[in-house]
Amino acid sequence: MAGRSFCPHCKHQLAWYDLFPLLSFAFLGGKCRYCKKKISWQYPLIELVTGLTFSAVLFFSPFAVFLNLNQQIGNPTNVLRLLMPTNSYFSFMNWVSILITLIIFSILILVALHDAKTGYILSIYVFVAAFLALVLIFLGYQGGLDATMITSYFFPFIWSAIVPASILFSLYFFSKGKWMGAGDSELAVLMGLFLGFPLILVSFYTAFIVGSIWSLILVYVAKKAKMKSAVPLGPFLVLGVYVAYFLGPLLVDFYVKMFLGA
Ligand SMILES: [Zn+2]
Repeated sequence: MAGRSFCPHCKHQLAWYDLFPLLSFAFLGGKCRYCKKKISWQYPLIELVTGLTFSAVLFFSPFAVFLNLNQQIGNPTNVLRLLMPTNSYFSFMNWVSILITLIIFSILILVALHDAKTGYILSIYVFVAAFLALVLIFLGYQGGLDATMITSYFFPFIWSAIVPASILFSLYFFSKGKWMGAGDSELAVLMGLFLGFPLILVSFYTAFIVGSIWSLILVYVAKKAKMKSAVPLGPFLVLGVYVAYFLGPLLVDFYVKMFLGA
């Protein structure tokens, strides 16, 4: 983060016009302006994922649903009015919550990428995001000092943070780090605080299904290694957060109607 951005190959400092997300990459044909060395496709990919995530959070977040923003999209003036800070629905605190959500997603993208590349979870970042998720929980509380309201609001978050993380930590502990790293249970704490119940279930369900399919592909199709080291779980957990956050309410609703007949 410190200092100006530079080309990792020739170390030439980049000008401001080299720093437009996606556009600069496309304009320069994926090459450094100064040394003509190819730039990794990972940079525009991260920019694209981050950009899509930010747009999705703004338009499909629980706040947007709460505001019926989806129904208002047909009328641009309504959207503009809703997004004004002076609008009582879209209060200052809602903007703070959205900003915090964007930071948490940025950290999740960074953590997933770093884990995929190195096999390690960036614990410090996860702790920062977990703290921010805790702030979000408090910002979302509107029940006053009523004891039952407090319990029914906060307990699901606490259990969601403790139970899955404990299971992951046990797997880490008893396999002596063979099945997963200690960092995965830290990430699970963040997921529990950020998603709460029942979305935490959706995220883990997604992570384990996609993770298992990916492992099978690696072993049987790509014939890669003999599972000497575990596949990094972080990217799948983060994918689970995405599915739970954006599609979770829909999936839970579908599940309850289909299988519980409620
Ligand atoms: Zn260069």
